[in-house]
Amino acid sequence: MRDNRTRRTENHMALRIGVIGGGQLARMMIAPAVELGIEIRVLAESDGMSAQLAATAVGDYRDLDTVRAFAKDVDVITFDHEHVPQEVLRALVADGAAVHPGPDALRYAQDKLDMRARLAELDVPQPDWARVTDADELQAFLDDHGGRAVVKTPRGGYDGKGVRVVRSADDAADWFAQTEAGDALLVEELVSFRRELAQQIARRPSGQMVAYPVVETVQRDGVCAEVFAPAPGAGDRLAQVAEGIGRLIAEGLGVTGMLAVELFETDDERILVNELAMRPHNSGHWSQDGAVTGQFEQHLRAVADLPLGDASPTAEWATMVNILGGPADGTFESRFEAAMSEHPDAKIHTYGKAARPGRKVGHVNVSGDDLDDIVYKARAAAAHFA
Ligand code: ADP
Repeated sequence: MRDNRTRRTENHMALRIGVIGGGQLARMMIAPAVELGIEIRVLAESDGMSAQLAATAVGDYRDLDTVRAFAKDVDVITFDHEHVPQEVLRALVADGAAVHPGPDALRYAQDKLDMRARLAELDVPQPDWARVTDADELQAFLDDHGGRAVVKTPRGGYDGKGVRVVRSADDAADWFAQTEAGDALLVEELVSFRRELAQQIARRPSGQMVAYPVVETVQRDGVCAEVFAPAPGAGDRLAQVAEGIGRLIAEGLGVTGMLAVELFETDDERILVNELAMRPHNSGHWSQDGAVTGQFEQHLRAVADLPLGDASPTAEWATMVNILGGPADGTFESRFEAAMSEHPDAKIHTYGKAARPGRKVGHVNVSGDDLDDIVYKARAAAAHFA
């Protein structure tokens, strides 16, 4: 493996981090990279993406030659999304590139069946689940679980796409028809949850870990709408259980960079793992303005194997409200003046995306000592962009 640190010192070069994927997560790494003196380069899927400012290459992240050419000029490779194929990741590692998170960890964020199997080995609490290859197997699971269940496509789902509540095996017939021989669907018990939570952990290749406080996430139509940090009413027990699960997964899977663990808090007060993301995540956006070290800076520090920053909140409460859809008339910029003058304590983040119903085009963060007050302000500021 290349000794990046030695090379940098000798050549008096800035550390170069290459981000594969040009979406809003890459975009939000740009400012902290500039602050830290890190040179950030982005391989974007197309022109005009959110992270255009740092896009030094445009190309297909599934194409090994494209990714190899991009990786050759950077010290560390990291990601805006989890879709880079395993073959490509493994070829980069074989070339000697520092890839964080690496393929051995990332596979569990790429495939929900692999994730369930690995978490079972680690004894992490999760919903009952099974791998089903045909209608009979699904029906058997339904019969054992009160006639209702959640079916998921193991790969490629996001924002609730690829997730379906079923009451009979017929409800998943179209998905079975699309699976190739040997492929399977994931079926899970329909969890009766009180609310959804998320736990963020940062982990360096050398093993150091830092935990953020557990947060509550509110989803609407399968999309994250709001986050409250820390999770309201979370006592020491809940905070410790969530952090313990996060640390166990980060270490057990060898995650490097930011890890987000999506959790269910069940009606009978159990904490179960829903799914994992190994990158900055929507549930951690509040930390940009509400923690000593925001998740985007922390991700860069972690993947570069630099000492991690303090993840403590800077106020009693922080909230994040997503701007979904955006102004249909496309007049995003003209909305700033009113939003800013009415809500001077709101931190507005935009992704440079065109308006489209339901699309995440930005978010608003507000911190303070009164949760109701900051949630009101964040919603009101976000509403200016609806
Ligand atoms: P995605 O990859 O699209 O984010 P998730 O697996 O996180 O999909 O599921 C999306 C949403 O569906 C979750 O946030 C949750 O609200 C609901 N959901 C997922 N799995 C279950 C389950 N086993 N029981 C009940 N609700 C679920």
